[in-house]
Amino acid sequence: MNKNTCAVCGLEYFILSYKCTNCGNILRDKVSNINLGEILKDLLFNPDIGIKKILFAEHKNYLIVLSILLSFKLSVLTLIHISFIDLEPEFQNFVFLLKLLAYWLFFLFSLSFCYKFLFQFLFKVKMSFRSVHSIIIYPFLYFAISLLILFPLEFMLFGMYVFSNNPSIFSIDSGKAIMISLLEVIILMYTFYLTFIFQVFILHKKSTSLIITGSIFILLFFSNEFFRTIIGLN
Ligand SMILES: [Zn+2]
Repeated sequence: MNKNTCAVCGLEYFILSYKCTNCGNILRDKVSNINLGEILKDLLFNPDIGIKKILFAEHKNYLIVLSILLSFKLSVLTLIHISFIDLEPEFQNFVFLLKLLAYWLFFLFSLSFCYKFLFQFLFKVKMSFRSVHSIIIYPFLYFAISLLILFPLEFMLFGMYVFSNNPSIFSIDSGKAIMISLLEVIILMYTFYLTFIFQVFILHKKSTSLIITGSIFILLFFSNEFFRTIIGLN
């Protein structure tokens, strides 16, 4: 865990603490709100400053909106993965899409709950749910927002065949399909890096941070597979 020492009384405190529990000394700057434009810039050019602004902020603005947007993004990837338009007609309805969205929202919130309790169990430090959820969700900022840019682009290029393996977008236009996939992969790799440095900020140990980051991404992958099983596709 990332700790610092109070300059007045010498008590060790968790990096997110605002006030020393022993002497009441103010331990860091007060940040009130998260400015989305600023954070978009910081997480790209000054990730360390961006992370501090997010985790020190009193109000975690955009957290719910981002959770929903990320669930939409993950839902779209699942629909591509399960080749949605080739499925039986019983799946081709609005209720199925709502269930998929709810599945991912539930997954993201469960992940944060597990993280919160694991952290509390290991380090005996309570973090607010909003802080923990920010540690999970904010690294996915670009990944979530990419939905608003990449998905319309994919839809323009391939129409409903985005959701089909028959024919796959690679056999429709391999050049454009590779370009789009490459963009998705670059954003995903940067998301992995951001998740890792958020973990390093909290845990201060690179090896543990890498294991946790890897676990989050493996869980994401398996949840995608798990959804196939739930709806009876495997
Ligand atoms: Zn103190």
